[in-house]
Amino acid sequence: MVNLMTEKNVTKALTLVAGIAGLALAGTLLKRRSRFDLEGKVVLITGGSRGLGLVLARQFADEKARVVICARDQIELDRARVDLQQQGAEVRSFPCDVTDPEAVQKMVDEIGQIDVLVNNAGIIQVGPLDTMTAEDFRRSLKTHFWGPLNTILAVLPQMRMRKAGRIVNISSVGGKVSVPHLLPYSASKFALVGLSKGLRSELRKDGILVTTVCPGLMRTGSPRNAEFKGKHREEYAWFSISDSLPFISINAERAAYQIIEATKEGRAALTISLPAKIAVLSDTLFPEFTAGLLSLVNDFVLPESSATTSSAKGKDSTSFWSPSWLTTLTDEAALKNNEV
Ligand code: NAD
Repeated sequence: MVNLMTEKNVTKALTLVAGIAGLALAGTLLKRRSRFDLEGKVVLITGGSRGLGLVLARQFADEKARVVICARDQIELDRARVDLQQQGAEVRSFPCDVTDPEAVQKMVDEIGQIDVLVNNAGIIQVGPLDTMTAEDFRRSLKTHFWGPLNTILAVLPQMRMRKAGRIVNISSVGGKVSVPHLLPYSASKFALVGLSKGLRSELRKDGILVTTVCPGLMRTGSPRNAEFKGKHREEYAWFSISDSLPFISINAERAAYQIIEATKEGRAALTISLPAKIAVLSDTLFPEFTAGLLSLVNDFVLPESSATTSSAKGKDSTSFWSPSWLTTLTDEAALKNNEV
């Protein structure tokens, strides 16, 4: 039998272990050194009137950041501002549609210094391809690609001048693995991932760190305000139930905490939740298998197609299945996060 425990082998193994430990320690120290103190920093959160944007605003305010939220609906924004003020937050709110570059520029000029930009605004359209129009794809791209590009181009000159800033782009696991019945959404979130990753490489020399966030399903309470096409009640049922299942979806507060930690550390990328990580890994290592599995889900689990291209909000698509005890967690999140 070969004796593996020779002095030479033991020395090699010890050197390897010491090397790995050294790298881990250096990584931790580097992370600590580049950690960003949020106290007093101005954080602009697009789509901050409800859902994840509002949860992020609450947690940034807990870090003593000065929070600015924007969204299109003034009434919803007012409710969110009051919610944040009641927690003692320093908050400003701006009605602004991020797809309009002039409105974005005007808002950024009025805000003044912005230390952290969080591109969170989003729309969700659920339904099979046959029900989606070219306009649905355009609207999704305008919101998830052109919206973030508008805000980024508006804040870049000031961040470059100060040689400092953080940009956080909230994409989705749908921006890494294309999901059936979510094609306009997935395509636009892929575009955002491409933009965000390239920016990371180009802006580091200017002292600006860009973080690309790809969450899996989160219980923000958003399904009520999402749009459903085709057999909209069935689409709403599968979507809102998946959004509510504890292992499949993650609590919005936990997701926001991870996003804020990644912002402070200036991380390049963050994928949130175990199912999302498994999906991304599976698609990277086994693309044929993953595509096959998603085809099976499309063919046997998701509702059949229908000829209509009209859409209905989640709250107008209720059925026996949703709301029900199966959607309790998502319904509670909706109440908490200004979705109702
Ligand atoms: P949500 O619908 O509750 O909130 C979206 C926010 O964006 C709202 O405030 C809305 O008013 C705002 N908004 C939409 N279009 C806008 C525009 N043109 N200009 C300004 N504001 C606009 O959704 P959510 O669940 O809180 O999602 C937040 C982000 O997280 C989105 O980008 C979404 O794609 C992403 N995401 C969500 C999930 C999830 O499971 N909820 C999963 C992955 C990624």
